[in-house]
Amino acid sequence: MGTSVNIIEGSQVWVEDQDQAWLDGQVLKITGQNAEIDCSNGKKVTLNLSKIYPKDMEAPAGGVDDMTKLSYLHEPGVLQNLKSRYELNEIYTYTGNILIAINPFQRLPHIYDGHMMQQYKGAPFGELSPHVFAVADVAYRAMVNEGKSNSILVSGESGAGKTETTKMLMRYLAYLGGRAATEGRTVEQQVLESNPVLEAFGNAKTVRNNNSSRFGKFVEIQFDKHGRISGAAIRTYLLERSRVCQINDPERNYHCFYLLCAAPQEEIEKYKLDHPKTFHYLNQSKCFELVGISDAHDYLATRRAMDIVGISAKEQEAIFRVVAAILHLGNIVFTKGKEVDSSVPKDEKAKFHLKTTAELLMCDAVALEDALCKRVMITPEEVIKRSLDPQSAAISRDGLAKTIYSRLFDWLVDKINNSIGQDPTSKCLIGVLDIYGFESFKTNSFEQFCINFTNEKLQQHFNQHVFKMEQEEYTKEQIDWSYIEFVDNQDVLDLIEKKPGGIIALLDEACMFPKSTHETFSNKLYQTFKSHKRFIKPKLSRTDFTIGHYAGEVQYQSDQFLDKNKDYVVAEHQELLGASKCQFVAGLFPPPPEETSKSSKFSSIGSRFKLQLQQLMETLNSTEPHYIRCVKPNNLLKPAIFENVNIMQQLRCGGVLEAIRISCAGYPTRRAFFEFINRFGLLAPEALEGNYDEKVACKRIMDKKGLKGFQIGKTKVFLRAGQMAELDARRSEV
Ligand code: ATP
Ligand code: MG
Repeated sequence: MGTSVNIIEGSQVWVEDQDQAWLDGQVLKITGQNAEIDCSNGKKVTLNLSKIYPKDMEAPAGGVDDMTKLSYLHEPGVLQNLKSRYELNEIYTYTGNILIAINPFQRLPHIYDGHMMQQYKGAPFGELSPHVFAVADVAYRAMVNEGKSNSILVSGESGAGKTETTKMLMRYLAYLGGRAATEGRTVEQQVLESNPVLEAFGNAKTVRNNNSSRFGKFVEIQFDKHGRISGAAIRTYLLERSRVCQINDPERNYHCFYLLCAAPQEEIEKYKLDHPKTFHYLNQSKCFELVGISDAHDYLATRRAMDIVGISAKEQEAIFRVVAAILHLGNIVFTKGKEVDSSVPKDEKAKFHLKTTAELLMCDAVALEDALCKRVMITPEEVIKRSLDPQSAAISRDGLAKTIYSRLFDWLVDKINNSIGQDPTSKCLIGVLDIYGFESFKTNSFEQFCINFTNEKLQQHFNQHVFKMEQEEYTKEQIDWSYIEFVDNQDVLDLIEKKPGGIIALLDEACMFPKSTHETFSNKLYQTFKSHKRFIKPKLSRTDFTIGHYAGEVQYQSDQFLDKNKDYVVAEHQELLGASKCQFVAGLFPPPPEETSKSSKFSSIGSRFKLQLQQLMETLNSTEPHYIRCVKPNNLLKPAIFENVNIMQQLRCGGVLEAIRISCAGYPTRRAFFEFINRFGLLAPEALEGNYDEKVACKRIMDKKGLKGFQIGKTKVFLRAGQMAELDARRSEV
């Protein structure tokens, strides 16, 4: 994007800066290829001309609502534009068809109220200020008019505002496609009320977000031929299971546990509950309450939402009984038993929790103790019961808690889907995707691997789409677009998902082979991908591996990959709960399907996730996509703080910069003929004499200034990157 040709002494420019990402300043002196710059913060720097970008002195102070209107489409220009808008509480900005949404971390007055919805209804895209409603409206119109399914993909890092945005989209779609007030529950009400239910069971406070979704979600809203909502389906992805048993201060476990502990007295007594600090699964963190949130209130609100989505009172009772049982289960502490390497409940308290867990799950207490403390070994000669030591028994207990919880969550999703109902006659749908963004932490495990795999998939989809849109615009204007090259991330995807031979396949292989360890798995990766461009073996580790993702390199710690990939339920646990006298509990543990062969018995989280993603991509590919990129302006979760470097990084991960790059590779600046003439007519006044043709005049201006590679479309001039700056520079010479 370097455009150094137009920079002269006195030019206003942008220079790269470690702390601020970009600093503006003025060129004092140019010596050869170097320029000395006086930055606005007082710093003086000398830089190569190729590292300097011209500043658009005509950019409006309040920014422009679409980046493509920027005369200079480069990183600092993009950042400056977002910043000046955010300062005015304009949190939405377009980049062509992509909506960028910067989390305001405060309730902005009126921007989502009924009046606003009314205004956006049917308004041509781009006529009103950028907004989520505008995106939903385009999607809805396109669906109604063309009979084609649409999807809205919301992405961004944790706390960026995906879920809030998704809820706003759903509210607006329910407004467009809802029926006038009818008796009882309407489909759209049920769709909206599924959110609080799923949030109670699938969201938790983390360091990044007080209401962080710990699962991915794709909501498919179906419409009938009149454009009315007629059904819906919710698909969820990879709930974080480990959180049920293990949390770090100051995070929390899933909201539902705290809600239940704040339930009316009657329930507290029935479930033998107490303050969250008395439960091991909750007291590993000192955070129990959330500022500004009443768990007691939310408990009742969740129950009401459950009513609306169609979960019966009896089912609700069973659901919360299971939630309570998990809390008690976590308090069953073990100590060494009489025999070597055996374990028993530690004391009277542990026995009380064991008994209570059994009561709540309606299973036999002795059988529960056995299932936790013993394993059945089947050898060709005999069947033996082997005891577990206290540590293994605790692992067994946590495994059971995680299994029960994740099955409960899946049950809720199924129930909501069945209750809302699918419309088999619906031909059009609008899908809304709210899924975790790219993650790169100090330690990255299997979860990050799956999340980043998802993002690679979505990035490919995004690039292909942006590329296609560019081409379409060029075709519409009848100009040649052979200039654009397209960078694909297929090589990373192959590395991860290729069958056979990709990382997921190698991981499955390792999981099936009893002697594998994470060391043997890592070694296999090192051997197999020795010369893969996207795979790196870190120098200082013997088991980590690094993948060169589109958004940057991520180093993964392989030690828990095998365990986390294995998706099996201990046979003893299955048997115990399958035999529960509570129909609901037994229903969570249906008998496993008959085993036919060894390989079909093995199912892995990684492979199942890969399959789910494939299905998601197929759905998305059959829709017209719209993208919303949520940005988290700071890590303090506070309003009015705009962290440049942080935001730049997110724009990069979200593909916004890539979209801009693709657009820069073609003709990033477009100006309608008359606009172009207004701005640059003075460069060739002779071209504007008499009765001139706008199109010819534009061409003559460009030719006179010796510019090449531009194109004249049917209604617009298409300029190559930097040409606008060049023309501006010439203009100041006139
Ligand atoms: P995660 O990946 O952790 O689920 P997320 O991207 O879904 O994160 P949200 O839960 O949607 O993030 O948003 C985090 C918080 O930011 C919200 O709880 C809310 O306080 C605030 N927020 C987000 N969007 C808006 C908005 N448009 N207006 C006001 N506040 C917002
Ligand atoms: Mg969320």
